[in-house]
Amino acid sequence: MGAKVGVLALQGDVREHVELLAELDAHTVLVRGPMDLAGIDAIVLPGGESTTISLLLDTAGLRAPLAERLAADLPAMGTCAGMILLAAEVLDGRADQGSFGVIDLSVRRNAFGRQVDSFEVDLAVAGLGPDPVPGVFIRAPIVERVGDDVEVLARVDGRPVACRQGPILVTSFHPELSGDVRLHDLFLKSCL
Ligand code: GLN
Repeated sequence: MGAKVGVLALQGDVREHVELLAELDAHTVLVRGPMDLAGIDAIVLPGGESTTISLLLDTAGLRAPLAERLAADLPAMGTCAGMILLAAEVLDGRADQGSFGVIDLSVRRNAFGRQVDSFEVDLAVAGLGPDPVPGVFIRAPIVERVGDDVEVLARVDGRPVACRQGPILVTSFHPELSGDVRLHDLFLKSCL
């Protein structure tokens, strides 16, 4: 495929995303500052801690230039904390936490409970064939509202856990931790 895919590398499970993308033959770029955005064809926002990543976006001077690229339709995939950072509305966020608002979702942080309440479940994901996708949930956000233009690709107990709007794909679980490449593949194929 040979696409140049940025991985936001401020905090979180960056290495795991890089490894999955390498399996798909994508050329990855660690995005740590504004210069790293030059020439990328897509970006992945990893799981981690959205409040910390949000603060570091400001420290790194990345918030405005990344918002500008996203507004110009840069394809983006966000997992867990990454989903929170891409959502239109963040509930139970910290007051100083910002999000890019490029997918019309309202998400509530840590709504599946504390770290000990993390869980794993097999998921049926639209477009990924009959084999279940392992869903690893760690203090995951719950999607409380889905905008009209958002497609829900997977649900747990009726709640959306994988969603897409145009070039933006988000999951409240961590495909990068289960090592299943199919969601990253779907993202790259749908946008590049
Ligand atoms: N609870 C984290 C947050 O609010 C997300 C957890 C995760 O990415 N595993 O950012």
